[in-house]
Amino acid sequence: MAPPGAAAPSEYLQDLMTRVRAKNPAEPEFHQAVQEVFDSLRVVLERHPEYVSYRILDRMVEPERVLTFRVPWFDDRGDIHINRGFRIEMNSAIGPYKGGLRFHPSVNLGVLKFLAFEQVFKNSLTTLPMGGGKGGSDFDPKDKSRNEVMRFCQSFMTELHRHIGPDTDVPAGDIGVGGREMGFLFGQYKRLANEFTGVLTGKGLNWGGSLIRPEATGYGCVYFAAEMLKTRHDSLEGKTCLVSGSGNVSQYTVEKLLDMGARPVTLSDSNGMIYDPQGIDREKLAWVMELKNVRRGRIREYAERFKGAAYVTADPTLGHNPLWEIKADCAFPSATQNEINARDAAALIRNGVSVVAEGANMPSTLEAAKMFIEAEVLYGPAKAANAGGVAASGLEMSQNSMRLSWSREEVDSRLRTIMVSIHANCYETAQAYGTPGNLVNGANIAGFLKVANAMLDQGLV
Ligand code: NDP
Repeated sequence: MAPPGAAAPSEYLQDLMTRVRAKNPAEPEFHQAVQEVFDSLRVVLERHPEYVSYRILDRMVEPERVLTFRVPWFDDRGDIHINRGFRIEMNSAIGPYKGGLRFHPSVNLGVLKFLAFEQVFKNSLTTLPMGGGKGGSDFDPKDKSRNEVMRFCQSFMTELHRHIGPDTDVPAGDIGVGGREMGFLFGQYKRLANEFTGVLTGKGLNWGGSLIRPEATGYGCVYFAAEMLKTRHDSLEGKTCLVSGSGNVSQYTVEKLLDMGARPVTLSDSNGMIYDPQGIDREKLAWVMELKNVRRGRIREYAERFKGAAYVTADPTLGHNPLWEIKADCAFPSATQNEINARDAAALIRNGVSVVAEGANMPSTLEAAKMFIEAEVLYGPAKAANAGGVAASGLEMSQNSMRLSWSREEVDSRLRTIMVSIHANCYETAQAYGTPGNLVNGANIAGFLKVANAMLDQGLV
């Protein structure tokens, strides 16, 4: 029975969703992320009416703090540019805010709020004490010189440094923020704060970084896919795999798929995709890493370099992504949000895909995700499947606090243990709440419970 003042769960969720849309207009990605979580929580609220009466979800959809700031910088010709910087400090019930910085022209408040909201649940699943946050800028590092990127990062950190700290808010990388950007951001933080602390994760190895952090999101996603397959007494050995994107997550997804005996056949960037029916082997992957991380070229060049590979230019007017039409056993979307729509999901299901493991954040639309679940595809939602990155960030924070560096084997084995336990937690929670095999419900409910209970313990703050 609901306590006084508490509405029935489905009415409450519907009413709150209406208020979220009205109060946060023009933020469709944020609405989508909230709706997905709400869809999973009705049964939880029925069993625990105290979450309604204490307005836990009302509080969770309202960021604890939102910072936006001007980021002025000079290009190499001396022209002035102004970008917008953000940091969303979403929820600190179980630890300091933690989540990446994204530099991409598509960044806006709604995109970062969706990412920060997702991050709260994801971080809760890792078993480590980390709250949720996200930040970034509409700055585009593509086609900028190294000095331009450095000046931008320094200007961005000049404001951000006032708000972050190793026990307050610990940003990491995301789209457009890799090792190079992290170095510039950390250098400026250290200069302004006059301290060398673990205020960022994804740092370089010789200045406080952790082994396996660059690999962790991709490796973790593949470990998660292997766990999903185990529940059907199957493995990745010999499986043909579609991977989208060609950045950090995609590269290490391909590497771990090769370790597991699978055959990755695609990669992409915002200009187009390549399909290599012979498979992307280690030599080709090393070439891609040089292309993307050193030369900063486009994936189109892959098809020019390797015979038998085809290149298809991206066509935003198409309304679907041809990459998902290629026949394969597994799909690892690893580029960006909403890259799989209902039509893409239908193509994947028609072609008999048995696993979808999300390396990117919210790569499937709500409709696509529902289709995977209905078709009984092994579907690993982002907040569980790509939690390896933030888990390794948590391990980097621990090493920084202890002033220790663990070996590659030690961090990788901890990462693997965490991914196995996240899968088990999602799997068991889905079962306990009456939807066996539905890892979306499992991840949302398990992630929610830990944060919600901490919020109940800490009073109305
Ligand atoms: P990178 O910047 O290293 O790579 C991003 C890749 O995705 C690039 O190939 C990029 O192509 C492509 N891409 C980006 N935006 C678009 C778009 N709008 N349309 C088509 N392609 C696009 O980023 P990451 O690999 O770090 O991140 C990829 C995804 O993984 C993101 O969703 C991120 O939030 C998520 N993630 C990352 C984690 C990490 O540890 N790095 C942790 C957890 C999740 P182009 O170069 O042309 O822009």
